[in-house]
Amino acid sequence: MANRGNIPCEVPGCGGTRAQGYLLCSPCWRAVPRRLQSCVYSSFRAWQAVLTQKPADMPAMREASASYRAAAKAATDAACANRFPDLHQAMKEA
Ligand SMILES: [Zn+2]
Repeated sequence: MANRGNIPCEVPGCGGTRAQGYLLCSPCWRAVPRRLQSCVYSSFRAWQAVLTQKPADMPAMREASASYRAAAKAATDAACANRFPDLHQAMKEA
């Protein structure tokens, strides 16, 4: 079984914990707009699909993993902006 709820949340300033297999803690994830949430899900599924392809397609793997990372970063950013607007602003200016 998954190891639940003991990984630090990726969102700066949050300090919460997320479960294994989740990108963010649940309050942060709820602060992510629906459109970005579905980007994260669909790019993750696409990446997993490429990983199981035989023979391995390295360029496609790299591309799919980059898309997922970009979606994950956008979601993390949005959660920070929505939950901790002052901190998010300060980080942009730093
Ligand atoms: Zn969080």
